[in-house]
Amino acid sequence: MASTVVFIGPPGCGKGTHAARLSKEYKILPVSVGEYLRREVKAKTELGVKIADIISRGELVSDEIAVEVVKGVFYSNRDKNILLDGFPRTVTQAVLLDEVLLGYKRQVDIAVYFKVSDKEVIRRISGRRMDPVTGKIYHIEFNPPPEGVNTIQRDDDRIEVIKKRLELFHKETAPVADYYKKQKKIAEIDGEGKPDEVYSRLLSAIKQYIE
Ligand code: AMP
Repeated sequence: MASTVVFIGPPGCGKGTHAARLSKEYKILPVSVGEYLRREVKAKTELGVKIADIISRGELVSDEIAVEVVKGVFYSNRDKNILLDGFPRTVTQAVLLDEVLLGYKRQVDIAVYFKVSDKEVIRRISGRRMDPVTGKIYHIEFNPPPEGVNTIQRDDDRIEVIKKRLELFHKETAPVADYYKKQKKIAEIDGEGKPDEVYSRLLSAIKQYIE
């Protein structure tokens, strides 16, 4: 049966980076609701126009919108291992996800919680930059963009917005970790330290579900 892996963690915890690497090395489809929503905003679709301000303020879009995105993914990828990066972000989303998965005879196999302190989150995100053409992420200190690549700062990476996103993380998303803890499906990982070290911690936690 196809596996379903969930990544939970504060903004800037490395979820996206590790999801990308994992999907290169293993047969697993990474799904970022945030990235999907940003594409809608960029393309100025009806949905994009509706959510643009919410995203740039660092708030969460409605559970209904987020769940719709994920529903479409499971509908179109029935036999694939799927990695949800940044979903669920509320307990309501977690409950709705279970319902969606039941319809495909699937379940959340493991939820990985990347633990990173607020201080480290602020340090990481305030230096984060994005190439608006490719969507590739750089960091002015740790991973500067190559010469000739122009980058921008995401609106929601500005310091005031990061603080808001962190506040929402603690209020809305940290309880999602408890939801999976109760079901004994949580792997808590220290998300600080070198990316390679975090990645190997991640692999030991989830390898059995993706091989
Ligand atoms: P991310 O790229 O995962 O940091 O997501 C960027 C933004 O997209 C978030 O700050 C939210 O506004 C929105 N978003 C992404 N995933 C969700 C979700 N599961 N529920 C609600 N809003 C989300």
